[in-house]
Amino acid sequence: MNNIVAIVGRPNVGKSTFFNRLIQRREAIVDSVSGVTRDRIYGKSEWNGKEFSVIDTGGYIKGSDDIFEAEIRKQVELAIEEADAIIFVVDVEEGITPMDAEVAKLLRKVTKPVLLAVNKVDSASREKDAFEFYNLGLGEYFTLSGMNGSGTGDLLDKLVEVL
Ligand code: GDP
Ligand code: MG
Repeated sequence: MNNIVAIVGRPNVGKSTFFNRLIQRREAIVDSVSGVTRDRIYGKSEWNGKEFSVIDTGGYIKGSDDIFEAEIRKQVELAIEEADAIIFVVDVEEGITPMDAEVAKLLRKVTKPVLLAVNKVDSASREKDAFEFYNLGLGEYFTLSGMNGSGTGDLLDKLVEVL
């Protein structure tokens, strides 16, 4: 596979919602390999004429951050190995959690493109709440709503540019 994009982040930030929006006209393929790789869903997507594969991670990880920290770390490490670009999703409703900070720490060391996606920005009034995510040390971020689709175009423009 070429042009692989991995979507990472802690549970409930909206990774799968965004993933489903990206691949809405294609079928997701569930990887049946055992172990941690099972917990990933692949789909095909396209933007501005550029095709890419998307991996949604952590589908079976449910529950609190601390219990599943090791699992999420594994998913992020796998994504760093396998993907050509990484979309790190965070949640504007929750703000920066310790788990977000942990993931950011791993991603700051990565030389591949990392796009920070501040999700659940469903309305313009939430834009200002996203400022705090600069503190993750990953540079600029994109605000979006995976639910209603706003902001996703700008993120995808950037994604296909860096792929
Ligand atoms: P995941 O665990 O990261 O894959 O997150 P999900 O995609 O399963 O979403 C977790 C919850 O957040 C669900 O209740 C979604 O409906 C909700 N959600 C996802 N995206 C958005 C969004 O853009 N805005 C709002 N308000 N809720 C969202
Ligand atoms: Mg999910």
